Amino acid sequence: MRAEGGQMRKRLFRYGLPLLLLLAVLQVFAVGSTDAYRVYQGTREKKTFSNVGGAIHYAVNLPRSYVIRTATRREVWTSEVPILEYHAFSTKQEHDVWFVTADAFEKQLRYLSEHGYSSISFQELAKAWYEHRPLPPKPVIISIDDGYMNNYTIAYPLLKKYKMKASIFLTTKMIGADANHFGWPEIREMEGSGLVTFEAHGVSHQNLTKLSEAHARRELVDAKQVLEEKLEHPVVCYSYPGGYNNAKIRQMVEAAGYFFGTVGKGGYASMSQGAYELQRIIVNGTQPPYQFVESLKDK
Ligand SMILES: [Zn+2]
Repeated sequence: MRAEGGQMRKRLFRYGLPLLLLLAVLQVFAVGSTDAYRVYQGTREKKTFSNVGGAIHYAVNLPRSYVIRTATRREVWTSEVPILEYHAFSTKQEHDVWFVTADAFEKQLRYLSEHGYSSISFQELAKAWYEHRPLPPKPVIISIDDGYMNNYTIAYPLLKKYKMKASIFLTTKMIGADANHFGWPEIREMEGSGLVTFEAHGVSHQNLTKLSEAHARRELVDAKQVLEEKLEHPVVCYSYPGGYNNAKIRQMVEAAGYFFGTVGKGGYASMSQGAYELQRIIVNGTQPPYQFVESLKDK
């Protein structure tokens, strides 16, 4: 009996400390946030842990690629990212908040590139924040709403010139609808470059808070479905037309399978704002080209 007890103590001593450390680490995840998510093949799985045992079970069943690793020197862990918000581009000054001139846009891209910013997509942001993966240094998201033809004729050549990524939010009914909106051939060409990805901005650019629940749901679900069928990749972010949203709408965006919703409040986006209220920094076409730098924390 005594010998067996000694063996037991030795074993506890050998495994006890690492086990305690493991429990402590899992405890942080399990208690700090009882919900955990992972993004897998375009779906977001939500896991709720009621106890540490559940968290351990979840952790040991993660595929190899989900094992938490340290960031390399070229990568960073970051909980906040600036998302720049653009709409339209023009060759000459329009004196309109929503029109940024080609010259100003080029200066802005050059600034970001020369100051070490790495443009990322919402897909990459989803992996970073939901799977706890690192991002490239000084991440920034360039987002453009509405799918105007000038995105293709003016912004896209500049994105290629500076090898910068952008995410364009599409209103599906407006795709190729008139000369002001690009169509599927342009979408395919831009996605083919590996620089531009497309996300959702509804079916018909409605203020969701003013619609019936069924109508609002169609705006969210149908836009995602149309885009995913054509693009053959998950659409992860919804840009609220006009920025209008409320708790009910945010819940519906989540239920529709989006990972993020964006508004235009003016600061860095962070998970603590709530994944469905990510702030953006509006790049105002009437301000000097470098004014947006004021909003950046790393100049
Ligand atoms: Zn819009």
